[in-house]
Amino acid sequence: MKIHEYQAKEIFKQYGINVPNSILCEKLEDIEKCVQSIGTPCVIKAQVYSGARGKSGGVKIAQNKENALKYASEILSMVLVSPQAGMKKVNKILIENAVDIQKELYMSFTFDRTNEAVTFIISEQGGMDIEETAVKNPEKIFKQVIYDTFYPMETIEKLGLSSDISEKTAKAAEALYKLVIEKDALLAEINPLVITKQNEIMALDAKLNFDDNALFRHEDILLMKDEKEENPLELQAQKLGLNYIKLDGTIGCMVNGAGLAMATMDIIKLAGKEAANFLDVGGGASSEKIENAFKLLISDKNLEAVFINIFGGILRCDFLAEGVKNAIANLKIECPVIVRMEGTNKEAGADILNNSGLKFTVVKDLNEAIEVIRKL
Ligand code: ADP
Ligand code: MG
Repeated sequence: MKIHEYQAKEIFKQYGINVPNSILCEKLEDIEKCVQSIGTPCVIKAQVYSGARGKSGGVKIAQNKENALKYASEILSMVLVSPQAGMKKVNKILIENAVDIQKELYMSFTFDRTNEAVTFIISEQGGMDIEETAVKNPEKIFKQVIYDTFYPMETIEKLGLSSDISEKTAKAAEALYKLVIEKDALLAEINPLVITKQNEIMALDAKLNFDDNALFRHEDILLMKDEKEENPLELQAQKLGLNYIKLDGTIGCMVNGAGLAMATMDIIKLAGKEAANFLDVGGGASSEKIENAFKLLISDKNLEAVFINIFGGILRCDFLAEGVKNAIANLKIECPVIVRMEGTNKEAGADILNNSGLKFTVVKDLNEAIEVIRKL
């Protein structure tokens, strides 16, 4: 789960990580009051689930009140277009004290699956061009896999900062690591973490992503969810208990089991197409759940065809066929629906589909499925 910068900064404060003074503003009529309370110079920042806001016009520094009011009303009304997240309507802005920056560092913690450990990443070349640094000067980015106790100084020393600044940076790193562990974060990123002209360390940006599977023990974080920022189809899927992720292709897929879902996406690619989504209905889906999943899937406007690939184990093929049949009977579906079923009661399932009076292409195996998809 993602949260906004302003929310992440609230959590930072709880952990003793310095952040600038700021105020959240959600209404045009509140802008003046908010700017007044922060003063100038200030920074106006779009609050959307996207990085690279600075490069997309979503972060602006105002030296005086007049500019602050102008930028605030512009950003609060804008649709931010970023290479990372596409189009995002801005509904909230953060009005923040402008900090005198001496240097911008980069700091993050991610989960390294290869090493099965949290990894600490730091660079003295932080800021908006960190991606470029990663490509052109990878030697300026230092990584430390944390297997046991975390000693940030081991890595921070390599940056060549003064000892006072190194110690303050290490303190921020320890605090952020504590947050990551205690709150079950999968990603914590501060870019930039700045050294101010007054030689303080401060987080000017804040990004936290949490492990969805651990949210049951973090009610405070769950409350921070902003439904407006989520993809509407994904949100609906969450409510139905489905694992659905929207993708950019044209072949909608419905599969049971995450591994089979990924293999199915590979097969679609092999057939020269792209998947429109990832959808795992799970092992024990009822025909009602299948019907809901199918309705959700089909509401995607970009579909060229739907491919249903099910291995009937606990989920029986006849249940699946019943659910799909009901969904299709109730909906007007113009695109072809290709079905591959294997496993428990597959003949009964095929009979239900073939006798439904509706149009399905029931294929006998994956090779045939590839051929049908290729010919679309
Ligand atoms: P994004 O990463 O989405 O572009 P940031 O919050 O990192 O957004 O802001 C972009 C840049 O704007 C930062 O790298 C920093 O140079 C500047 N900036 C952001 N917040 C402040 C602030 N409070 N004071 C001064 N400069 C800021
Ligand atoms: Mg940033």
